[in-house]
Parts: sequence; structure tokens; C-alpha cells
Amino acid sequence: MVEEKKRILVVDESQMVRSKIREELEGGQFEVLEAKDGNEALMHLASNAPLDLITMDVAISRMGGFESFGRLREEQRTTMDAASGAQPLPVVFITENDTMEDRKRGFEMGGVEFITKPFQKGEVLAAVNKILHPEGVDRDIWALVADDSAVSRTVASACLKREGIHVIEAEDGAQAFEHLQKNLDKIDIVITDMMMPVMDGKTLCQKIRRELAAADMPIIFLTAVSDLSELLEVFRAGASDYLVKPFAKEELMARIMVHIERNRINKKLRETIEVLKVANEEIQRLSIMDSLTGCYNRGYLKMEMPKEIHRAARYQRALSILLCDIDHFKAVNDTHGHLIGDHVLVEVVERMMRILRQNIDWIARYGGEEFIVVLPETPPDAACLVGERLRQSVASQPIVFQEERVSVTASFGVAGFHVVSGTSISTDDLFREADRGLYQAKQKGRNRVIRPAGPAVADAAAPR
Ligand code: GH3
Ligand code: MG
Ligand code: MG
Repeated sequence: MVEEKKRILVVDESQMVRSKIREELEGGQFEVLEAKDGNEALMHLASNAPLDLITMDVAISRMGGFESFGRLREEQRTTMDAASGAQPLPVVFITENDTMEDRKRGFEMGGVEFITKPFQKGEVLAAVNKILHPEGVDRDIWALVADDSAVSRTVASACLKREGIHVIEAEDGAQAFEHLQKNLDKIDIVITDMMMPVMDGKTLCQKIRRELAAADMPIIFLTAVSDLSELLEVFRAGASDYLVKPFAKEELMARIMVHIERNRINKKLRETIEVLKVANEEIQRLSIMDSLTGCYNRGYLKMEMPKEIHRAARYQRALSILLCDIDHFKAVNDTHGHLIGDHVLVEVVERMMRILRQNIDWIARYGGEEFIVVLPETPPDAACLVGERLRQSVASQPIVFQEERVSVTASFGVAGFHVVSGTSISTDDLFREADRGLYQAKQKGRNRVIRPAGPAVADAAAPR
């Protein structure tokens, strides 16, 4: 069966506006009739074909006053089959400038929606669809309605469903609670009666807050009493809001939407905070990394090195560092270009990382082609062996990049201590000693690991 199209009368002085609305509504599968003034509108109403909705320019109703519309309404009432229980013809007002006064008068005349000119494409159709096909509007909101009176429950549910809200009904607090226990995440709002058998609304509310720890769940009470002390108790139990029965549909909707919207904003806020936290962590991470090689940068070294020394001294542990400098690196750049030079830096770090202990040893880029390798729990003689393995891993095979083979070597200076009493060794002491070792390694022909002779830092660290 093909459903008959709903008929809409568009009342507007302007041919252009009428055409615009017609086009939009016809696109939405509505049949459209036009009237340029109140008289023409009346003629349409008087004809036999029934209408489902009117859109009307407020200016028209104002020209003859809202009176012409009043007459129209009157006309409609007399032609309406009283026994059919038909609803009054809904009117969508279209206004040039949206004033409270126009709205008030419009609503008094049965206006259900106001749209302000110039309206956006799709706006009129959306408003009309909402009125004529309310089931088509899906707000993706789930409400749990708890009421022991089937009539009250149905009234509330019907009113919510018309607004495109999905409803789950419960006959008492216990039923509602059971549903929430299983589907807490799926329910956006709870609407509950106060007095119910088995479990009343107050107890339900307390249990939602305490046992389900659902602090954000909006809970609206529908109550017949407006006794202040009762209401205060309801709020003490954790209610978000209340409405006194019989309530106006608009008020229920307004309150529901306020709470849902607040929750949505809160959720969005929490999500944004989470995103910012992650971004912040990333910034923190990046701020201590060397962007080319992925090892730590000099800032991190400056911050962490004193801590490493302090830790070693406090727990009487060994600590060593290696100062590594790539040999004749300027020549690598000169021969192969900067891009390949960069790749050599990356590869050297990778090779060294492969040999070091994960999560214990670490590397920081000290300068252009200089790196500090930090070896906790490692005395200097052991550090020399580690340095030797690092040296070999750099020198053993040429670095290949874009079909170019680059043979590089690196020199290492070693500094460290077995055990130190007191905390008198400074980062500078260690670096100075490693630098002496590196200098000697370069002097002696490069590609070697040297722990400098002479007084070691450990000796210099005797309590001053
Ligand atoms: P030595 O064996 O005495 O250490 O000689 P060297 O050429 O390695 O030492 P020098 O200090 O003269 O040159 C270091 C070169 O490292 C110079 C500079 O252009 C290069 N360099 C520094 N940082 C980077 C970088 O990030 N990328 C590239 N490709 N080159 C860099
Ligand atoms: Mg250098
Ligand atoms: Mg160098």
C-alpha cells in the first residue's frame, strides 16, 4: 500500500519564499499547497482536502493581525470531526525577527515551531518532519521510566517517544534497578515516580548513586506532592531534578534535555582533557628526545646525570660513562653529503643501542656527532669492555644508505667509579675525565677506547 502524502499549506506573501519552501517539502515527499494571504489560506481550509500542517509567515498573520489566523483556526475547529479526536492543525511560524512577543502570541495560536528567516537549507523540512513523523527523529537517547501506574508510565513514555527518545519501562524501583545493573551504559536518563511498591524512587535513586556509583546519571522525579520537605529528601537521595504531576510535556522535555546536554558537555570535557593529557605527555617525551637519532638530548642529560650520580653514591653502586665521538665525521659529510651524514648518526646510535642493556643504560646526544653513554651499576673497567664492544659494532661493517657504503669509526673516553662515599663527584668531574680519555684516543690514532691514566674521579671524590 502506498501511503498517501501529507499535505502542507505554505502561507507566505513572497512567491520566492513559497517556492523555496515548496521545493524543500516536496523533496521530503510532502504535497504542498500555497497561499499568498489569509484569504487564500481560508479557501484552502474550506475545501474538502484535509491539511496536515501549515507553515505561515508571521508577517501575514500580523497584517490582518494574528486575527486572520485566529479565524483560520476557528474554521478548522468547526470542520474538524470532533469524534475523530484529531489534534489541532499544527502550525510552523516563519518569522523575520524572532521576538518573544511574536513567539508568545504564536504559541497561543497553536504554533508548534518557530523558524527565523533567512532559514538554512533543510531547516523547514526538518521542523516539519519532526512534527509529522516524530518517530523518524532519533535522538539516540535512552530513558528508563519507572512508575507503578500504567497510565502515568504510558503518558510519560508516549511523550518521550514523540520526541524521538527511546523508552524502557519499569513497574517499580526494583525492576528499574535490575535493568540498570545490566545496562547502565545504555541508559542516558532515569525518570522515576516517588511512591512505588517493592522499591520506591528514593531508594532507587540512592542505590543508583551508591551501588552503581553512577554519579552523572540524571535522575528526574515525577511526583504528585510538592511538599518541600519531601522534595528536599529526594534531592538528598541524589535526585537531579523533579517535576510535579501533572506536568507539561514541554517542561519534561526541557529538563531532560538540560541534563542530557550537561552530561554531553561533561563527557566532551573529560575527553578533551584526556586528549590534552596524551598530547602533553607527547610534548614532554619529545622535549627530552633528540629528534634525529631518537636517543635523549642534552637537556635530558643535564637533568638526569646528577640524579644518576646521586643514586649511585647513595646506594654505593658503581657508575660509568662513555664519551663517544665519531671519527673524521666532517669528512663523511664532505664526501657523502649531509643527508648521508645524518643517516650515519642514526645508524651509529642504533648499533650502540643494540648492545646496551635495555631500560638500564642510556644514550644522550651531547653535541653534533658526540654522544654520552650512561652505564649505571658498571665500574670503569667493565665500561671499557662495553666501550670496546660499541667501538667494534660501529667499525665492523660499513653503513649502507641509498647504495652508498660509508665506513666509520668512533673514539671513546671512559670515566666512572666503583663505589664512592659521599656525593662529592659532579657531572663535570665525570665529563672532564671522559673528555681526557677521548682526547687521548684521538691523539693515539682514533677508533679506540681509552680510560685516561692519572687520578681517577673516584680518587678526586674523596670527601672534601
Ligand atoms: P674528529 O675525528 O677529530 O672528531 O673529526 P670530526 O670531523 O669528526 O670532527 P669535527 O668536530 O671537525 O666535525 C664534526 C662535524 O660533524 C662537523 C659538523 O658539520 C658535523 N655535524 C654536526 N652535527 C651534524 C648533524 O646533525 N648532521 C650531520 N650530517 N653532520 C653534523
Ligand atoms: Mg666532535
Ligand atoms: Mg668527530
